Amino acid sequence: MRMSLGFGACLLVTAGTVCAADGDLVGGTRTVTGSEPIVWQYDGDHGPSHWGEIAPTTASCEKGTHQSPINIRTTPHHQSHDGLLVHYGAAPGHVVTSHHTIEVDFQSGESLEVFGRTYALKEFHFHEPSEHQLNGRTYPMEAHLVHRDETGHLVVLAVLMDLGNESASLSAVWDRIPSGKQGEVRDLLINPQDLLPKDLHHYAYDGSLTTPPCTEGVHWIVLKEPISITASHIERFVSLIGHNARPVQSLNEREIDEE
Ligand SMILES: [Zn+2]
Repeated sequence: MRMSLGFGACLLVTAGTVCAADGDLVGGTRTVTGSEPIVWQYDGDHGPSHWGEIAPTTASCEKGTHQSPINIRTTPHHQSHDGLLVHYGAAPGHVVTSHHTIEVDFQSGESLEVFGRTYALKEFHFHEPSEHQLNGRTYPMEAHLVHRDETGHLVVLAVLMDLGNESASLSAVWDRIPSGKQGEVRDLLINPQDLLPKDLHHYAYDGSLTTPPCTEGVHWIVLKEPISITASHIERFVSLIGHNARPVQSLNEREIDEE
């Protein structure tokens, strides 16, 4: 079951992207929820174990029971038939660097279909190391492709990334990463399908944003097959962003579906 995210005009709240009460999106560490600026990081006094104390709007980070990421055991799960389809083609994206991630934004109508509903691709971004685990294994990186429907429901397609050969599509993104710090935007023509493995078999569960305000009601689809990334791409990402993975959260009563 999916429920409304309940953050009104907010389009996206992902690593490095911030949702203000008035719907403004602001990149960077200082974020706004309601009227109070908030600061969050991946370590220290503003690290993940303190996210729930940052502001009333981030209480879910501590008190939520359907949080992400999680460790997924690969023992057999309930078989779902969610009809996952991606409708991606070559599209213009804007490459943005923030304090928290590298992100490629889209407004092109690329979309994903699941349970017969269509969700528009808003952006994809990266985490180092991976946020989700398979059988307790953390992967070198993870990509999140964030989709939203007209009513605000979010579906995130997560792609684990393992060390391997250079990928032309990732190279295209990395080549466009602004050399300076945050705020720069550079255009890129990319087919998001090129970031996906051939096999779209996946795990699925209902979770949350993995960054403050950790809002629940996000449907996660975690592909089983990883894609490849080179050590030099990972090094470049870490030199710009640092480590940006939230620790795994309790599964609690949730069930994981599999297809
Ligand atoms: Zn993410």
